[in-house]
Amino acid sequence: IAALALTACGRSDSGTTGGGTAGGEAFPKDSSIGVALPQKTSENWVLAEKLFNDGLKDAGFKPDVQFANGGVSEQQNQISAMITKGAKVIVVGAIDGAQLGTQLKQAKDAGATIIAYDRLLLNTENVDYYVAYDNFKVGELQGKALLEGMQAKKPNGPYNVELFAGSPDDANAKVFFDGAMSVLKPKIDDGTLKVLSGQKSFEQAVTQGWKAENAQRRADTLLTGSYTSASLDGVLSPNDTLARAVLTAVKAAGKPLPVVTGQDSEVESVKSIMAGEQYSTINKDTRKLVEHAIVMVKDIQAGKTPEINDDKSYNNKVKTVPAYLLEPVIVTKENVKTAYVDDPVLGPITK
Ligand code: BGC
Repeated sequence: IAALALTACGRSDSGTTGGGTAGGEAFPKDSSIGVALPQKTSENWVLAEKLFNDGLKDAGFKPDVQFANGGVSEQQNQISAMITKGAKVIVVGAIDGAQLGTQLKQAKDAGATIIAYDRLLLNTENVDYYVAYDNFKVGELQGKALLEGMQAKKPNGPYNVELFAGSPDDANAKVFFDGAMSVLKPKIDDGTLKVLSGQKSFEQAVTQGWKAENAQRRADTLLTGSYTSASLDGVLSPNDTLARAVLTAVKAAGKPLPVVTGQDSEVESVKSIMAGEQYSTINKDTRKLVEHAIVMVKDIQAGKTPEINDDKSYNNKVKTVPAYLLEPVIVTKENVKTAYVDDPVLGPITK
């Protein structure tokens, strides 16, 4: 089983990918570069579309950026079409990281390099690089923020909390949850945190499709089931869209707002943080992530091995994917003004 790791992945430590054009180039600069994005489940994906189109064009490539709002089979078809159009690199933000094996194999067979973007591609040897914010760290920061936010309101526990996770088909969802639970589980075990619903596992906490309505419905059920008389002190929410859905449910139930975490620095959530409602978000600047993905594409085109800063964390069940990880930053009301000074959209809002 293990023998496949080195042969097919197209990665070379010698500095060139081989078989290139003149001057060590792996392929001509005006080649097509595919970018397969998932559904528009949060603002970061919408932003990525424009940034990839502009950034790849500026670098001289022909961008082919597609959203798969119709779901997994649409994304599979889009990747197949990218291969047909001769894409030399395919950047993939997967809807379901485990459902693209056939297309990724076809892409590799056709000579393309595969970069997993933001979300890891699972159960395949046919992924060359991963570029993302450190997902486990995102979860850790969320877990810490939840604790700190509750302690700031009430110095001593126990605290009643409920746990929400992302969509189970997105490889990131479990990593966010595991990161958060690395902080929260010891506190559940020692009695500082109580989950009155009893729903403590990832499977019980998931939100299918990262959909706000699914999180809101589950929050409604939890509130009527376990919190008619008890107070709800905190909610672990994996992103901003779901955080706002939880807050909507709590408001509808007429309960005091709990400490709610988030992620993505969405405009409405940043405003909510400034208004003292949502407690925290995570700053994962999409501009930096796309920029780095394009740096990788440029290196591959130039026949260079892209820079990697992590070669042990992201195992996809077949191989450990060489990764370039960026650092996520926690944002609360306390640092909201400084966090976004350079952000063209959030800077003016938080001034
Ligand atoms: C991304 C998050 C985002 C979520 C839903 C995840 O894979 O890492 O930033 O909130 O997808 O779109």
